[in-house]
Amino acid sequence: MPELPEISILARQMSETIVGRRIKSAEIVQPKCLNIPPEQFREGVAKQEIVEVQPRGKWLDLRLSHRHLLLNLGMGGDLLYFPLGKEPAEKRRALFALDDGSGFMVSFFWFGYIHLVKDISEHPQVGSLGMEPLSPQFTVDSLKKLLAGRRGNIKSLLTNQRMVAGIGNVYIQDILFSARLHPKRRAGSLNEEEVLALHRAITDVLRASVNKGGLAYERDFFGNSGRFRVEDMAVGYREGKPCPLCGSAVEKIKTGSTSQYICPNCQKL
Ligand SMILES: [Zn+2]
Repeated sequence: MPELPEISILARQMSETIVGRRIKSAEIVQPKCLNIPPEQFREGVAKQEIVEVQPRGKWLDLRLSHRHLLLNLGMGGDLLYFPLGKEPAEKRRALFALDDGSGFMVSFFWFGYIHLVKDISEHPQVGSLGMEPLSPQFTVDSLKKLLAGRRGNIKSLLTNQRMVAGIGNVYIQDILFSARLHPKRRAGSLNEEEVLALHRAITDVLRASVNKGGLAYERDFFGNSGRFRVEDMAVGYREGKPCPLCGSAVEKIKTGSTSQYICPNCQKL
Protein backbone atom coordinates (compact mmCIF):
# COMPACT_ATOMS: atom_id res chain seq x y z
CA MET A 1 0.00 0.00 0.00
CA PRO A 2 1.51 3.36 -0.96
CA GLU A 3 2.40 5.63 1.96
CA LEU A 4 3.29 9.31 2.00
CA PRO A 5 6.53 9.13 -0.08
CA GLU A 6 4.81 7.33 -2.97
CA ILE A 7 1.75 9.59 -2.77
CA SER A 8 3.96 12.72 -2.70
CA ILE A 9 5.79 11.57 -5.83
CA LEU A 10 2.50 10.88 -7.64
CA ALA A 11 1.14 14.29 -6.60
CA ARG A 12 4.24 16.06 -7.90
CA GLN A 13 4.19 14.20 -11.22
CA MET A 14 0.46 14.81 -11.65
CA SER A 15 0.96 18.51 -10.91
CA GLU A 16 3.60 18.70 -13.62
CA THR A 17 1.57 16.72 -16.17
CA ILE A 18 -2.17 17.22 -15.86
CA VAL A 19 -2.78 20.42 -13.90
CA GLY A 20 -4.57 22.91 -16.16
CA ARG A 21 -6.21 20.13 -18.19
CA ARG A 22 -9.96 19.58 -18.23
CA ILE A 23 -11.59 16.21 -17.62
CA LYS A 24 -13.51 15.28 -20.76
CA SER A 25 -15.15 12.17 -19.42
CA ALA A 26 -14.83 9.45 -16.82
CA GLU A 27 -15.28 5.76 -17.40
CA ILE A 28 -16.12 3.86 -14.23
CA VAL A 29 -15.59 0.12 -14.40
CA GLN A 30 -16.17 -0.57 -10.72
CA PRO A 31 -18.91 1.67 -9.25
CA LYS A 32 -18.35 0.13 -5.79
CA CYS A 33 -15.28 2.32 -5.28
CA LEU A 34 -17.33 5.52 -5.67
CA ASN A 35 -19.06 7.44 -2.87
CA ILE A 36 -21.95 8.55 -5.10
CA PRO A 37 -23.96 6.93 -7.93
CA PRO A 38 -21.91 6.54 -11.17
CA GLU A 39 -24.14 8.84 -13.20
CA GLN A 40 -23.79 11.62 -10.64
CA PHE A 41 -20.04 11.03 -10.49
CA ARG A 42 -19.59 11.26 -14.27
CA GLU A 43 -21.60 14.47 -14.42
CA GLY A 44 -19.71 15.85 -11.44
CA VAL A 45 -16.26 15.53 -13.00
CA ALA A 46 -17.12 16.30 -16.63
CA LYS A 47 -15.65 19.57 -17.94
CA GLN A 48 -13.96 20.29 -14.59
CA GLU A 49 -10.45 21.67 -14.71
CA ILE A 50 -7.73 20.03 -12.62
CA VAL A 51 -6.51 23.01 -10.63
CA GLU A 52 -4.10 21.46 -8.14
CA VAL A 53 -2.92 18.04 -6.93
CA GLN A 54 -1.93 17.58 -3.29
CA PRO A 55 -0.86 14.58 -1.22
CA ARG A 56 -3.13 14.03 1.77
CA GLY A 57 -1.71 11.11 3.77
CA LYS A 58 -2.44 7.98 1.77
CA TRP A 59 -4.86 9.92 -0.45
CA LEU A 60 -4.41 12.13 -3.50
CA ASP A 61 -6.49 15.27 -3.54
CA LEU A 62 -7.19 16.55 -7.05
CA ARG A 63 -8.75 19.96 -6.66
CA LEU A 64 -11.10 20.54 -9.59
CA SER A 65 -12.88 23.78 -10.53
CA HIS A 66 -15.80 23.07 -8.19
CA ARG A 67 -15.07 19.70 -6.57
CA HIS A 68 -12.37 17.54 -5.04
CA LEU A 69 -11.56 14.21 -6.62
CA LEU A 70 -10.06 12.02 -3.89
CA LEU A 71 -8.13 8.91 -4.83
CA ASN A 72 -6.95 6.13 -2.55
CA LEU A 73 -5.02 3.35 -4.25
CA GLY A 74 -5.66 0.72 -1.57
CA MET A 75 -3.67 -2.46 -2.05
CA GLY A 76 -1.66 -3.06 -5.21
CA GLY A 77 -2.98 0.08 -6.85
CA ASP A 78 -1.59 2.10 -9.71
CA LEU A 79 -2.34 5.51 -11.06
CA LEU A 80 -1.04 5.67 -14.61
CA TYR A 81 -0.79 8.48 -17.10
CA PHE A 82 -1.08 7.84 -20.80
CA PRO A 83 -0.29 10.21 -23.62
CA LEU A 84 -2.54 10.54 -26.64
CA GLY A 85 -3.25 7.16 -28.25
CA LYS A 86 -1.10 5.21 -25.79
CA GLU A 87 -3.69 3.85 -23.42
CA PRO A 88 -2.19 1.11 -21.18
CA ALA A 89 -3.61 -2.37 -21.64
CA GLU A 90 -3.90 -2.94 -17.91
CA LYS A 91 -7.11 -3.74 -16.10
CA ARG A 92 -8.66 -0.57 -14.78
CA ARG A 93 -11.23 0.44 -12.23
CA ALA A 94 -11.65 3.88 -13.76
CA LEU A 95 -10.28 5.96 -16.60
CA PHE A 96 -10.29 9.73 -16.92
CA ALA A 97 -9.99 11.19 -20.41
CA LEU A 98 -8.56 14.72 -20.61
CA ASP A 99 -9.21 17.52 -23.08
CA ASP A 100 -5.84 17.16 -24.86
CA GLY A 101 -6.45 13.49 -25.65
CA SER A 102 -4.25 12.18 -22.85
CA GLY A 103 -5.64 10.68 -19.68
CA PHE A 104 -5.00 8.64 -16.59
CA MET A 105 -6.33 5.41 -15.25
CA VAL A 106 -6.76 4.03 -11.79
CA SER A 107 -6.29 0.38 -10.98
CA PHE A 108 -6.26 -1.35 -7.67
CA PHE A 109 -6.47 -4.81 -6.41
CA TRP A 110 -8.29 -4.18 -3.15
CA PHE A 111 -9.63 -1.40 -0.87
CA GLY A 112 -9.24 1.48 -3.29
CA TYR A 113 -11.54 4.50 -3.44
CA ILE A 114 -12.51 7.13 -6.01
CA HIS A 115 -14.53 9.77 -4.22
CA LEU A 116 -15.97 13.10 -5.31
CA VAL A 117 -16.85 15.79 -2.76
CA LYS A 118 -17.63 19.51 -2.80
CA ASP A 119 -15.71 20.22 0.35
CA ILE A 120 -12.83 18.25 1.88
CA SER A 121 -14.19 18.77 5.38
CA GLU A 122 -17.28 16.74 4.50
CA HIS A 123 -15.19 13.67 3.66
CA PRO A 124 -15.04 11.28 6.65
CA GLN A 125 -11.42 10.12 6.14
CA VAL A 126 -9.65 12.96 4.34
CA GLY A 127 -11.48 15.61 6.35
CA SER A 128 -10.10 14.25 9.59
CA LEU A 129 -6.49 13.59 8.58
CA GLY A 130 -3.74 14.73 10.91
CA MET A 131 -0.49 16.57 10.21
CA GLU A 132 1.39 16.02 6.94
CA PRO A 133 4.92 15.08 7.99
CA LEU A 134 6.53 16.45 4.80
CA SER A 135 4.78 19.82 5.00
CA PRO A 136 6.30 22.97 6.53
CA GLN A 137 3.61 22.83 9.26
CA PHE A 138 5.24 19.70 10.68
CA THR A 139 7.64 21.22 13.19
CA VAL A 140 9.30 19.87 16.33
CA ASP A 141 6.87 21.99 18.31
CA SER A 142 3.79 20.65 16.56
CA LEU A 143 5.00 17.09 17.16
CA LYS A 144 5.65 17.87 20.81
CA LYS A 145 2.10 19.20 21.22
CA LEU A 146 0.69 16.13 19.51
CA LEU A 147 2.50 13.74 21.86
CA ALA A 148 1.91 15.64 25.09
CA GLY A 149 -0.18 13.69 27.58
CA ARG A 150 -0.91 10.78 25.21
CA ARG A 151 -1.21 7.45 26.96
CA GLY A 152 -1.20 5.21 23.88
CA ASN A 153 2.00 3.80 22.46
CA ILE A 154 4.13 5.72 20.00
CA LYS A 155 3.63 3.31 17.11
CA SER A 156 -0.18 3.46 17.27
CA LEU A 157 -0.09 7.25 17.48
CA LEU A 158 2.24 7.73 14.51
CA THR A 159 0.31 5.31 12.30
CA ASN A 160 -3.07 6.77 13.31
CA GLN A 161 -4.05 8.77 10.22
CA ARG A 162 -6.00 11.27 12.34
CA MET A 163 -2.79 12.18 14.19
CA VAL A 164 -0.12 12.01 11.48
CA ALA A 165 -1.12 11.40 7.88
CA GLY A 166 0.66 9.01 5.55
CA ILE A 167 2.85 6.82 7.77
CA GLY A 168 1.97 3.14 7.61
CA ASN A 169 3.48 -0.19 8.48
CA VAL A 170 6.41 0.14 6.08
CA TYR A 171 8.04 3.43 7.07
CA ILE A 172 7.23 3.20 10.80
CA GLN A 173 9.88 0.44 11.05
CA ASP A 174 12.94 2.57 10.35
CA ILE A 175 11.41 5.73 11.80
CA LEU A 176 11.29 4.21 15.29
CA PHE A 177 14.71 2.59 14.89
CA SER A 178 16.23 5.82 13.68
CA ALA A 179 14.78 7.63 16.73
CA ARG A 180 15.87 4.68 18.93
CA LEU A 181 12.37 4.27 20.30
CA HIS A 182 10.62 1.05 21.23
CA PRO A 183 7.22 0.82 19.47
CA LYS A 184 5.42 0.23 22.78
CA ARG A 185 6.85 3.33 24.41
CA ARG A 186 4.08 5.57 25.81
CA ALA A 187 3.75 8.54 23.43
CA GLY A 188 3.45 11.14 26.21
CA SER A 189 6.62 9.96 27.95
CA LEU A 190 9.16 11.21 25.38
CA ASN A 191 11.60 13.84 26.60
CA GLU A 192 12.71 16.90 24.57
CA GLU A 193 15.68 15.10 23.07
CA GLU A 194 13.59 12.11 22.03
CA VAL A 195 10.95 14.31 20.38
CA LEU A 196 13.70 16.05 18.45
CA ALA A 197 15.18 12.70 17.38
CA LEU A 198 11.74 11.43 16.37
CA HIS A 199 11.00 14.53 14.30
CA ARG A 200 14.29 14.14 12.49
CA ALA A 201 13.72 10.38 12.00
CA ILE A 202 10.27 10.94 10.44
CA THR A 203 11.45 13.54 7.95
CA ASP A 204 14.74 11.75 7.15
CA VAL A 205 13.19 8.33 6.55
CA LEU A 206 10.34 9.67 4.39
CA ARG A 207 12.61 12.00 2.39
CA ALA A 208 15.17 9.24 1.79
CA SER A 209 12.45 7.21 0.08
CA VAL A 210 11.11 10.20 -1.90
CA ASN A 211 14.66 10.80 -3.16
CA LYS A 212 14.79 7.22 -4.41
CA GLY A 213 11.44 7.45 -6.17
CA GLY A 214 9.49 5.54 -3.49
CA LEU A 215 9.15 1.83 -2.82
CA ALA A 216 10.51 -0.61 -5.37
CA TYR A 217 7.20 -2.50 -5.54
CA GLU A 218 5.10 0.61 -6.23
CA ARG A 219 4.89 2.45 -9.55
CA ASP A 220 4.80 6.14 -10.29
CA PHE A 221 2.49 8.09 -12.64
CA PHE A 222 4.59 7.03 -15.63
CA GLY A 223 4.73 3.36 -14.68
CA ASN A 224 8.31 3.43 -13.34
CA SER A 225 9.12 1.46 -10.20
CA GLY A 226 10.70 3.17 -7.21
CA ARG A 227 14.29 2.44 -6.19
CA PHE A 228 13.78 2.18 -2.43
CA ARG A 229 14.24 -1.52 -1.64
CA VAL A 230 14.03 -3.62 1.51
CA GLU A 231 17.85 -3.71 1.46
CA ASP A 232 17.80 0.07 1.85
CA MET A 233 16.05 -0.25 5.21
CA ALA A 234 18.00 -0.26 8.47
CA VAL A 235 15.92 -2.81 10.43
CA GLY A 236 12.54 -3.05 8.64
CA TYR A 237 11.85 -6.58 7.30
CA ARG A 238 15.38 -7.65 8.29
CA GLU A 239 14.74 -10.19 11.05
CA GLY A 240 17.95 -11.89 12.19
CA LYS A 241 20.19 -9.47 10.28
CA PRO A 242 22.71 -7.34 12.24
CA CYS A 243 21.65 -3.90 13.47
CA PRO A 244 23.64 -1.31 11.45
CA LEU A 245 24.52 0.54 14.67
CA CYS A 246 25.45 -2.16 17.19
CA GLY A 247 25.42 -5.49 15.35
CA SER A 248 22.70 -7.12 17.52
CA ALA A 249 20.28 -9.35 15.62
CA VAL A 250 17.11 -7.57 14.51
CA GLU A 251 13.97 -9.01 16.13
CA LYS A 252 10.40 -9.15 14.89
CA ILE A 253 7.90 -8.45 17.64
CA LYS A 254 4.09 -8.27 17.79
CA THR A 255 2.54 -4.83 18.22
CA GLY A 256 -1.22 -5.27 18.36
CA SER A 257 -2.33 -6.65 15.01
CA THR A 258 0.90 -5.68 13.24
CA SER A 259 4.58 -6.56 13.52
CA GLN A 260 7.56 -4.39 14.23
CA TYR A 261 11.22 -5.01 13.49
CA ILE A 262 13.46 -3.64 16.21
CA CYS A 263 17.02 -3.76 17.47
CA PRO A 264 16.55 -5.01 21.06
CA ASN A 265 19.70 -3.17 22.10
CA CYS A 266 19.10 0.24 20.44
CA GLN A 267 15.33 0.34 21.05
CA LYS A 268 14.89 -0.52 24.70
CA LEU A 269 11.50 -0.13 26.37
ZN1 LIG B 1 21.31 -1.82 17.60
